Amino acid sequence: MAEQENFLSELTGSFSSPCSENPTVAVMEAAYQHQNIPARYINCDVGKAQLQAAVAGAKAMGWRGFNCSIPNKQAIIEYIDELGTSAKVIGAVNCVIIRDGKLIGENTDGKGFVEALIEQIDINDKSLSLLGAGGAARAIAVESALAGAKSITIINRDKEKGQALADLIKDNTSADAHFVHWTPGISIAEDQDILVNATSVGLDDAEAMPEIDANSLRSALFVADVIPNPPQTRLLRLAEEKGCRTLNGLNMLVNQGALNLTYWFEVEADKAPMRKVLEDLFTG
Ligand code: NDP
Repeated sequence: MAEQENFLSELTGSFSSPCSENPTVAVMEAAYQHQNIPARYINCDVGKAQLQAAVAGAKAMGWRGFNCSIPNKQAIIEYIDELGTSAKVIGAVNCVIIRDGKLIGENTDGKGFVEALIEQIDINDKSLSLLGAGGAARAIAVESALAGAKSITIINRDKEKGQALADLIKDNTSADAHFVHWTPGISIAEDQDILVNATSVGLDDAEAMPEIDANSLRSALFVADVIPNPPQTRLLRLAEEKGCRTLNGLNMLVNQGALNLTYWFEVEADKAPMRKVLEDLFTG
């Protein structure tokens, strides 16, 4: 007798707005297909006003989980039953797991970044300078501190945001943290091991460059960029010319897809098909 077909998919997706340019759906569907996971990922245009109803809908339909992006990363916390350690400190959730009707909130921005970073450099006891103090910087600063970095220096234009992030790290982790006000042409201190651009400078513009002193990029400095598109930013190209080891923002994005699989299906991801989708999208 022929085996019974199963026409019921596991459901996952994303709630954000605007969302038409969010490539995560392509990444996740490629991963499901490649790993024979009978699931679908649906990219939903959901803003803050629709979030509560969307969450109730996802629960009612038995979704495994969903991602949240702008403008819902903080707003979703109101509906979460249990927050992961770093999500609690960061104060933002971008990956929700629905288990036994309960919502568990995690933040995979910083985890995706740190996982990519520690594949290339041991961050234990290292000093890390971070350009920016927005959502990505906050997640990276918290996760790097929790992963063992010795000190985090936040370099930002807006003093209040920069100081608040340094205070958050000092108050919630064992890492030391400082704020440095960003003035154009600022030098990266010689005692720093890792420099991370977590600003939006470089997004969709291969020639844009954070206004730092290029001469302070010494070959011993490890330079990372969160910008996924284009992946080879001007900062990274310049750093490579100076002999620095580098890491681009594509890795962070791939790792976030991999973390979705782990959180929702307890499956270890094969990252190759996810990376291929993003490389095709971003490098043509
Ligand atoms: P936010 O808007 O929250 O923060 C932007 C930060 O960039 C602020 O600190 C801002 O400084 C700084 N900034 C913007 N323009 C300049 C400039 N010209 N000079 C100096 N600083 C500047 O954005 P997010 O943190 O959410 O995102 C930042 C970037 O990270 C985006 O480009 C996004 O694509 C990328 N990202 C990548 C991910 C990945 O997986 N690869 C995941 C998440 C984000 P100020 O506070 O002074 O205004």
